[in-house]
Amino acid sequence: MKELNKVEFKKEVEDYLKVLFRKSINEADDQQKFQAVAYAVKDFIVDQWMATHRTYEEQDVKTVYYLSMEFLTGRALGNIIINLKGNQAIKDAIEELGMDLDVIEDQEPDAALGNGGLGRLAACFLDSLSTLGYPAYGCGIRYKYGMFKQVIENGYQLEKPDDWLKYGNPFEIKRPEYAVEVKFGGYVAIRKDECGRDKFVQENYQSVRAIPYDLPIVGYNNNVVNTLRIWDAEPIDTFNLDSFDKGDYQKAVEQENLARTICEVLYPNDNHMAGKELRLKQQYFFVSASIQRAVMKYMEKHDDIRKIHEKVVFQLNDTHPTVTVAELMRILMDEYNLSWDEAWDVTTKSCAYTNHTIMSEALEKWPLELFSRLLPRIYQIIEEINRRFVLQIQAAYPDDNSKVEKMAIIYDGQVKMAHLAIAAGFSVNGVAKLHTEILKHQELKDFYEMMPEKFNNKTNGITQRRFLLHGNPLLAQWITDKIGDDWITNLKHINELSVYADDELSQKEFMNIKYKNKVRLAKYIKEHNGIEVDPRSIFDVQVKRLHEYKRQLLNILHVMYLYNKLKQNPGMDFYPRTFIFGAKASAGYMRAKSIIKLINSVGDVINNDASINGKIKVVFIENYRVSNAEIIFAAADVSEQISTASKEASGTGNMKFMLNGALTLGTMDGANVEIVDEVGEENAFIFGLSSDEVIAYEHNGQYNPRDIYNSDADIRAVLTQLVDGTYSQGNFEEFRDIYNSLLDGQGGRPDMYFILKDFRSYAEAQERVEAAYKDEKKWARSAMLNTAKSGKFSSDRTIEEYAKEIWHLDKVKVEVTDAD
Ligand SMILES: *Cc1c(COP(=O)(O)O)cnc(C)c1O
Repeated sequence: MKELNKVEFKKEVEDYLKVLFRKSINEADDQQKFQAVAYAVKDFIVDQWMATHRTYEEQDVKTVYYLSMEFLTGRALGNIIINLKGNQAIKDAIEELGMDLDVIEDQEPDAALGNGGLGRLAACFLDSLSTLGYPAYGCGIRYKYGMFKQVIENGYQLEKPDDWLKYGNPFEIKRPEYAVEVKFGGYVAIRKDECGRDKFVQENYQSVRAIPYDLPIVGYNNNVVNTLRIWDAEPIDTFNLDSFDKGDYQKAVEQENLARTICEVLYPNDNHMAGKELRLKQQYFFVSASIQRAVMKYMEKHDDIRKIHEKVVFQLNDTHPTVTVAELMRILMDEYNLSWDEAWDVTTKSCAYTNHTIMSEALEKWPLELFSRLLPRIYQIIEEINRRFVLQIQAAYPDDNSKVEKMAIIYDGQVKMAHLAIAAGFSVNGVAKLHTEILKHQELKDFYEMMPEKFNNKTNGITQRRFLLHGNPLLAQWITDKIGDDWITNLKHINELSVYADDELSQKEFMNIKYKNKVRLAKYIKEHNGIEVDPRSIFDVQVKRLHEYKRQLLNILHVMYLYNKLKQNPGMDFYPRTFIFGAKASAGYMRAKSIIKLINSVGDVINNDASINGKIKVVFIENYRVSNAEIIFAAADVSEQISTASKEASGTGNMKFMLNGALTLGTMDGANVEIVDEVGEENAFIFGLSSDEVIAYEHNGQYNPRDIYNSDADIRAVLTQLVDGTYSQGNFEEFRDIYNSLLDGQGGRPDMYFILKDFRSYAEAQERVEAAYKDEKKWARSAMLNTAKSGKFSSDRTIEEYAKEIWHLDKVKVEVTDAD
């Protein structure tokens, strides 16, 4: 590996300040310094980037294209420096230039091209793909505005645009030479080609130019730099005199508008399908551009398109990119003249689908009218896929008409994207053991019975490089001092810490690092919220998207309950607790926003009640995102993973907490099940209904929250406080909808997420948390064991499984030579 030279690096930073801003170090502001440092770092990694791609070409490697509407990568600079193991030279250079690396890193806006877990998973996967040396492209959209910035005003969430490209992105490279055209609308005509064959051609369409921007994904200390390719839309150059003369003025304006709107903004919905036309345009836009480029690139080096699946595999991150299937069919048939059967053979060998949820409101179904109007040729192809698939279903189940009803791709006036992905993909995977089992035996039972060979599990993971090495440098260094640094690229080794779990000195050191991280977070909270929190209190943390199924409401209702107990009995034995929340709600999700308001209102009352002596504090951290997440995980004692069992497909926040030595307080849902398997139930706090119990109640309708309300006075008191003005300065209506959702259901089922049902079990688990924390040594042992047993949850493990069992990729070694 080429060494990074400190003196050269310093010179580069100064040169960039001059060239970019005409400034010396003393004149430049922090943002300008960040830009200059970023360009200097990019200069260094670009040799590796070129060497990586030269190696891929020379070895004609098989490549995975990870197609995802979201990549929640966060900040790049700190992560790149970490992954260039020679980062000491950069750190020294920055220090000698009189700069503070933390301040410089803080200038970079998060690349928030994602909502939550699904987008962050894609980002962790890219980090692992590069670190493991697998050839890969991430393919996505260069949203002009990413996930909105959350501002809390009067306890309410406000959404502000995230203008992340305001100062430009020093790491990106625009690649206009790889631009392609993407077509929308019009109609499909049948024309004869030179050989007299029928050709399907889209006519009278509107189109945009898709322009790729490449971002480097740097592997850990291995010279591998893969590419995250995000597409922007520009108008096709028709706005000229020529088209004006032809009377195409109207069309030119429309096309320009189309190009302007497609990549404007990320839809801020997590686990929810809004069904907007622009969203489908975004999907086809980045899929068509990515697939066209992948096919072109393949054909530059090969001559038989029928073998493209030997060199290319497309992984669909949820159903969002499922039009991939039809777009590939279209290219193969309409542009390369393959027959249907030939094209189908290739397509079904190159597309694989990851399912991320079983919740009905998240399943993508598009109205036929919209779909066929926007994507007429793609729709034709899907109709034919459906026609053949229905025949296959009927052949398998000649006596059961309900199977077609349940499994058809087109049914009831809708295109069902999951059904398309399953019918055309060679692999369908869930994201945690429990989730995959639920898919196989409940949600996708019919598909599993017809094609069991497609189904497999790939339990999610996270990258320890960002969430421990970068986010928690104190703990990272301590671990390395104890067991060496193999854990950085092979997290299984972290289990070697287990031998220290009973060692009192190690326990003290471990908890002292936790304490320092709590002081760091307390400082952040003081600066951002103006609230004093005691780092000696238990830091009990729930950070994730705001969603009813994730049950932030259960958490805050329990806080209200605890506060009531403390008020009734001021002398009670009570260990001080800081409840920390962080969550964005989709802009249109009113109940979720109301829950944010409730958390803040409860905080206002409790934090300002001198009579409880600061024993409870409630903090809502504004604008939860990757950059502040790193600080939060490092400081957590308790990891709240309290979703209604069966609803959280995997969760990945749970893994980040575990890695950082927090104990899970959770339901047996998603990957919590596997976390408990690894660390042991005695080192976690498990409560609540099982997924089987939840699913049984959902079927039999036997749960009535009124029974609990009537029989449990403490719960009744808490619910009453939602509507008696206790937390709303006398406004009885502020939280009425939340109250009603628990008891009335308003058309739906009341308490759909079993909050009252699980309340007592949760409160009892919280009592176990308090008792356990009071036993310092025992807690320290458990915390250390959580870190030690987190090896399975590295995204490196997940990616090895995808690579071996689905993608069949080979690892590549990259040497940087003088030629690069
Ligand atoms: C990991 C992560 C998530 C996912 O959290 P869950 O608890 O699994 O829902 C969401 N947002 C950010 C910023 C994350 O880092």
